Amino acid sequence: MRVWVPLDAAARALGADAVAEALGREFTVTRNGTRGMVWLEPLVEVERDGVRHGYGPVGPEDAASVAEAIRSGGDHPLALGPVEELPWMKAQTRLTFARVGVIDPLSVEEYQAHGGLEGLRRAIGMGSEHIVAEVVESGLRGRGGAGFPTGIKWKTVAAAPAERKYIVCNADEGDSGSFADRMLMEGDPLVLIEGMAIAGIAVGAVQGYVYIRSEYPDAIRLMEAAIGKARQAGILGQSVLGSAHAYDMEVRVGAGAYVCGEETSLLNSLEGKRGVVRAKPPIPALEGFLGRPTVVNNVISLASVPWILAHGGAEYAKLGIGRSKGTIPIQIAGNVRHGGLFEAAFGMSLRQIVEEIGGGTASGRPVKAAQVGGPLGSYIPHWNFDVPFGYEELATKEGLLGHAGITVFDDSADMLKLARFAMEFCAVESCGKCTPCRIGSVRGVETIDRIAQGDETGIPILTDLCNTMKWGSLCALGGFAPFPVMSALTHFPDDFRGRSEPRK
Ligand code: SF4
Repeated sequence: MRVWVPLDAAARALGADAVAEALGREFTVTRNGTRGMVWLEPLVEVERDGVRHGYGPVGPEDAASVAEAIRSGGDHPLALGPVEELPWMKAQTRLTFARVGVIDPLSVEEYQAHGGLEGLRRAIGMGSEHIVAEVVESGLRGRGGAGFPTGIKWKTVAAAPAERKYIVCNADEGDSGSFADRMLMEGDPLVLIEGMAIAGIAVGAVQGYVYIRSEYPDAIRLMEAAIGKARQAGILGQSVLGSAHAYDMEVRVGAGAYVCGEETSLLNSLEGKRGVVRAKPPIPALEGFLGRPTVVNNVISLASVPWILAHGGAEYAKLGIGRSKGTIPIQIAGNVRHGGLFEAAFGMSLRQIVEEIGGGTASGRPVKAAQVGGPLGSYIPHWNFDVPFGYEELATKEGLLGHAGITVFDDSADMLKLARFAMEFCAVESCGKCTPCRIGSVRGVETIDRIAQGDETGIPILTDLCNTMKWGSLCALGGFAPFPVMSALTHFPDDFRGRSEPRK
């Protein structure tokens, strides 16, 4: 009898390895990625009559009784029934994450049996121009935060005259509350390899790099192992799937500086230099890695491409709203009952995501706000939760889609402290190249501390400082740090006034 126990880092942190070892004494255990329901991890699955049934959360202490239930087919308090029928799974449109949690991440056979390599095969038959046209038609935009149209970026690199070009995957997922890149690399690394190979064929690049932060040892190990499997299977190498195209890639490990998630800083780091931001122009599409035309795309952007090539850009573009096409893997975290990864077409309201999908706060208290888009995203107050989840739609509320991470806070949250955290984060992570960010963030922390002591003359100074950082910083770190600060101040002024003593 085949049993699945996730190897995802979140599941491992919750005891999945011990569960796998215990069940492995009796059953054939396959380690899969996570289904994204973190509150049910470790989620053990067993196949009965072709249907996967779940048990969760299964701690090491539950392994013996779960094994007995699997063996006998009897009931168990942790039995969940068919996994695909769980409301969290049924409500999703899983395109990019279709195989995550389903297959053995390192099995090329299982990958192909579940639709893998269809996109790459079609791409090989199409040629560069048509691949780019398909991605343009899909409306895919950068899922790392900037939201720039992926197809237009590829078109620029494809048209750039150069002997060598590169594909660089930005897997420096540094936003707090974001984990889609990690879950994908741990659960289906071959889809990222396939997406990068398609990008290489599209723009004429024969070499790619996945830049992963060192805090992701499992993702690094799995990506490296998957690259080895892909080489053995002829997906990478001098002749991609037997074609005339060559493409290979390797993993590079970053030291974990947040600013190395900014593409030019990442390129400097990749070249072995200090991770400081480069002024643009020149854009990396024309002068990127080692000064050559380079596609720099986020993990999810590249991993979305195989589906687009397999099913057509027009099919992808049918999903979503406005200029936000396709699906987005939403990461729900913070003070929330059901946290995890939920892939859906753009357009759900923030209220649906937080209250229906996420189930409200874990504390049971009313929701106060949600920070969308990582530590530099705005705090959206609960009265604005009807905003649809899309790039332009969130911008109408001064919000930022970013990497689609949502961190939920209940009504006990002190917004002044959260504003201080944003400024302190910026001060710690600043690369130091420009003054508004390097010095402004330090002055910002000091000013918020003054306000916390009851000095309200600091409020207009903080506002002025935020405007200077917003308009005067060279990159998004200094330019966006004012968003959480100003959204906290604008929507929750009472948390900044009348503070004679620091609140708890
Ligand atoms: Fe560096 Fe901050 Fe300036 Fe960005 S905004 S270039 S991180 S100092």
